[in-house]
Amino acid sequence: MQPKIVVVGSSNTDMVVKLPRLPGKGESIIGGEFMMPAGGKGANQAVAAARLGAQVTFVARLGADVFGDKALAGLKAEGINTDFIVRDADAPSGVALIIVDSNGDNMLAVAPGANARLNAADVERAAGAIAAADAVVLQLEIPLEAVAQALRIARQHHVRTVLNPAPARVLPDEVLAMVDVLTPNEHEAALLSGDIGQTVDQAARHLLRMGAGRVVVTLGADGAMTAGPDQFLCRAAGFHVQAVDTTAAGDAFTAALACALARGDDMPAAVRFANAVGALTVTKMGAQPSLPTARDVEEFLKSR
Ligand code: ADP
Repeated sequence: MQPKIVVVGSSNTDMVVKLPRLPGKGESIIGGEFMMPAGGKGANQAVAAARLGAQVTFVARLGADVFGDKALAGLKAEGINTDFIVRDADAPSGVALIIVDSNGDNMLAVAPGANARLNAADVERAAGAIAAADAVVLQLEIPLEAVAQALRIARQHHVRTVLNPAPARVLPDEVLAMVDVLTPNEHEAALLSGDIGQTVDQAARHLLRMGAGRVVVTLGADGAMTAGPDQFLCRAAGFHVQAVDTTAAGDAFTAALACALARGDDMPAAVRFANAVGALTVTKMGAQPSLPTARDVEEFLKSR
């Protein structure tokens, strides 16, 4: 069965310069390599899910500009339903300036543009698609009112909700309580739980107490840690790969986890699948160009 996934979120054009190392404050480093792939956490999640075989609807706002045209064409080429993408005449499409170093570490400056104007009414128009979905996938690169509205509609219709709380932002408890699966990285887990000094385990347990159904903390090369309603913590090791660019690893992980759960995998199997998708994503440059297909993942898992 092809899982139905609705992603509500951001779309950006990434302008990436690859340098031997990240520049310091006021420093110029010459000699970089430039590329301009499609990105934005929401669009990355949508494309990741589509490549993994899901039937995807993406709810978003793009500017009425060339970047928006290109982003829309890219999404359509992936087979994504773009009926609920609003073209905004009053704001430019989102853009991210990214620097990546030779270790795959990165630095980002984001101008959200139209993403910052995605609102509850935009999401409401997609209520039918959300009600019919197997999972709704979200991140925080759009206004909280849009995220909360998507969660409310999903809850009403008993649709699974998966939220990647990035970029990190403190969330009201009533929003967290509508999240079935929360996928922070270590930094986001600490910030969301309100105490930067906590261990990952403490932060995950705290987030469960705050209302999240399950918490899956992504640990970069170390994989992920899952905490369920019974407070039982379970670590899943990451796959050993040569990291080239970690952009979109968290987006790919979250989309993969949602797809696997939506097709009926249990949590350990879904986390293993998501770890494989995250690992494959870091082996290539760029956000969307690096997202693997279902076949890539199948071959990767067979070889391990
Ligand atoms: P984010 O990109 O949101 O900060 P992480 O860095 O934790 O999130 O990465 C998300 C997931 O991607 C990890 O849980 C892991 O599955 C995979 N991943 C990230 N970096 C690596 C790496 N260097 N090697 C293997 N897998 C990785």
